[in-house]
Amino acid sequence: MRWDLDALFPGGSGSEDFQRYLAEIREQLAGLKARIASLDETADLDRFCEIADGMESAIVKVLQANAFVGCLLAQNTADKKAAMLRGQVSEDLSEYYRLLAVLDEKIKAVDDSLWEEWLRDGRLREIAFVLNERREQAKEKLSASEEAIIQNLSVDGYQAWGNLYDRLVGDMVIPVEVNGEKKGLSCGQAENLFSDPDREVRKRVFESWEKAWAEKGDYFAEALNHLAGFRLNVYKSRKWEDVLKEPLMLNRMKRETLAAMWSAVEENKGPFVEYLNRKAKMLGLEKLSWYDLNAPLGKTERKIPYAEAAETVIAQFGKFSERMASFAKRAFENRWIEAEDRPGKQPGGFCTSFPDSRQTRIFMTYSGTLPNVFTLAHELGHAFHSHVLEEERPFNRLYGMNVAETASTFAEMIVADHALKNAKTDEEKLYLLDDKIARSVTFFMNIHARFLFETRFYDERKKGPVSVRRLNEIMEGAQKEAYCHALAEYHPLFWASKLHFYVTDVPFYNFPYTFGYLFSMGLYARALEEGRGFEGRYIALLKDTAAMTVEDLAKKHLNADLTNKEFWNSAARLCARDVEEFLRLTEKWS
Ligand SMILES: [Zn+2]
Repeated sequence: MRWDLDALFPGGSGSEDFQRYLAEIREQLAGLKARIASLDETADLDRFCEIADGMESAIVKVLQANAFVGCLLAQNTADKKAAMLRGQVSEDLSEYYRLLAVLDEKIKAVDDSLWEEWLRDGRLREIAFVLNERREQAKEKLSASEEAIIQNLSVDGYQAWGNLYDRLVGDMVIPVEVNGEKKGLSCGQAENLFSDPDREVRKRVFESWEKAWAEKGDYFAEALNHLAGFRLNVYKSRKWEDVLKEPLMLNRMKRETLAAMWSAVEENKGPFVEYLNRKAKMLGLEKLSWYDLNAPLGKTERKIPYAEAAETVIAQFGKFSERMASFAKRAFENRWIEAEDRPGKQPGGFCTSFPDSRQTRIFMTYSGTLPNVFTLAHELGHAFHSHVLEEERPFNRLYGMNVAETASTFAEMIVADHALKNAKTDEEKLYLLDDKIARSVTFFMNIHARFLFETRFYDERKKGPVSVRRLNEIMEGAQKEAYCHALAEYHPLFWASKLHFYVTDVPFYNFPYTFGYLFSMGLYARALEEGRGFEGRYIALLKDTAAMTVEDLAKKHLNADLTNKEFWNSAARLCARDVEEFLRLTEKWS
């Protein structure tokens, strides 16, 4: 159950091979820097192709180094040498992005007709979409020197607000009384108690939780207003009027697609309202409150040994794709998965790829529960995505956030559905169904509320800073609308407690989640219809995830139009099917 990192670089954080590898990267980046600097807009195609090749081979190495350091730190959070290495590799990554920005500026200056000619060249045709996208985006931005000033100022004027938020949250203590004993909990610990079976516990934690966020509300409002203000000012300088321009660009999607998706979500909320009402009855309530949403229903105490989990995952993958199954088998056999349950490990799970070695590693803590099995399948789905992309050019592997969860959700769905069909007791079935539907509720309602809030907040922020009282109002309004007024109490301070509103690398860190979930559902629906016959098309789609817009991706591989509600409706209906089964299973509470 321990992964093998020595196969990549022997010796862990003390690896000499890795030191040599880092030195090679430095040398390569320095060479590229000189070559890019000497490139001018009339430079010949051969020199540009050489630079593009160099940039592709450099990103493969930098990402490989970054993945190695990430794995070292995850397996042992106290590894000081690994922490030092992290700093070095971060420096290389920043240098790489600086070089890309300089290159963008160079290609922006290339004459249009010459550029067209370049892209038709056999050496560039495959990566034409990505190169052209970079050039178009560079044109939409300010000059390189102006953008560089923004970048530099953002460290203390933008990122700093995000860092300050993290500090404030890290220091927060939520006072809670459990079994007569007073305790001070961290935010993460308090949040875990929202899935406590005892309603009194959930309610008390929630009251204390709201109070704690309210006490520091002015500070959070300050941070949120400045983050948004900075963004709006940058947009204004670039003459970008729509706050959604940047997030849509990063996700390679059209505004019409976003509108079609949300409208399908709105139209298909009915079953989820029924689910919330039924869950309320089962808990003896008239209506659920915010802190009841994660209350557990049913139960499963089944323990699944790791070897059995591996067998199940491989067998279920095999029903849809032989390649997926054999890939998973290879991952288990070659010890690509760190699954051991021991102290000193980072929490959570992730999948990271080592593109230079054409290998991946998965990190998680396996303690034998059913959700652990689903996580295993989820991460193997990510790994399979990286695996099929290894055959593509490095520039064609950097997919957007909205398609990042396609393969993982797909893989997880296969295994979760199998578990549901083979539930040992009604209690276990209820547990699994509730877990699955609660997830849909998150994407249909919670994420929708975040999107509504953020859109409205930005509208008001354009006119000036928004007060705590007003932020609470906007949030509660958004939640009521998104949850169709189905709850008794809401969480007005959610704008303060949710980290995603303060993330500085991606704006509107919400709709890509719902997109990804429904997109995978749409794919899964096709896979169910076509069985093994879907494999070829599925793999072809994954290979193209970073080489075109999402609209073109769906058109090419699914013959679907994402700007039309119909695609999203069919995916949403598939989610609603779980609710029908849930209502049947819990009929005695109707
Ligand atoms: Zn994932």
